[in-house]
Amino acid sequence: AGAVTAVNLVKVYGKGDTEVRALDGVSVAFGRARFTAIMGPSGSGKSTLMHCLAGLDRATSGQALLAGVDLTTLSDRVLTQVRRERIGFVFQAFNLLPHLTARRNITLPLDLAGRRPDHELFQHLVTELGLTDRLGHRPSELSGGQQQRVAVARAMVSRPEVVFADEPTGNLDSRSGAEVLAMMRNSVHELGQTVVMVTHDPGAAAYADRVVLLADGRVAGEIDRPDHASVT
Ligand code: ADP
Ligand code: ADP
Repeated sequence: AGAVTAVNLVKVYGKGDTEVRALDGVSVAFGRARFTAIMGPSGSGKSTLMHCLAGLDRATSGQALLAGVDLTTLSDRVLTQVRRERIGFVFQAFNLLPHLTARRNITLPLDLAGRRPDHELFQHLVTELGLTDRLGHRPSELSGGQQQRVAVARAMVSRPEVVFADEPTGNLDSRSGAEVLAMMRNSVHELGQTVVMVTHDPGAAAYADRVVLLADGRVAGEIDRPDHASVT
């Protein structure tokens, strides 16, 4: 069992003629302290799997386990709470607040929850992600790669049980994408953070410890320890 586990997960959209089985019985475990990529062609169910495991969407049947708790059995209210308190998100579009500095963007989830940031963890992330001299800047004063690194720090600063990254390099040029991935991989390993990343880019997946391949809503294979791209 991993930190996050899908057990025979099925997701059906629509009904009758328009029915789509986006997930057709997916069983897979994402281990603690590992950086896993989910890959597969467009329409293979990557986003649906991530959304079901992150409690953003409800599976039709099967189990979506977070540290042993089946998210499919929780009420909407509890599910929202679990998502806020125990799961970190990194989106393709960064989703930073434009009027806040990098520092405030990073600590925002903690501020909203009335929790104090762990200063050691904050410093560690900021250093590892190369943001030390960028903390006073607003997003518009940062490069795309820097903005995404702020988003990664924000996702990890509350020590969530898992961080889901949805095409985190989709809006970046290849060089800043590689930089974000290398820094993400390092901070994942340094902190023992569990990260699950959806990507269609094999170059991005090469930074992961393991790749899970989806095809037609099923697990079609996996690659352990793909050749790691060199850190630049
Ligand atoms: P991927 O992320 O691999 O591109 P998705 O999980 O987005 O795949 O989609 C899997 C399948 O489910 C596709 O056939 C897609 O068209 C369908 N699908 C996804 N979301 C919806 C939705 N909200 N309503 C209907 N069909 C959907
Ligand atoms: P998609 O990839 O399907 O086009 P997004 O990646 O924008 O859409 O959002 C995916 C899901 O994440 C949506 O269900 C949305 O409600 C949720 N979401 C988007 N932004 C945030 C956020 N900042 N915090 C929490 N959930 C979000």
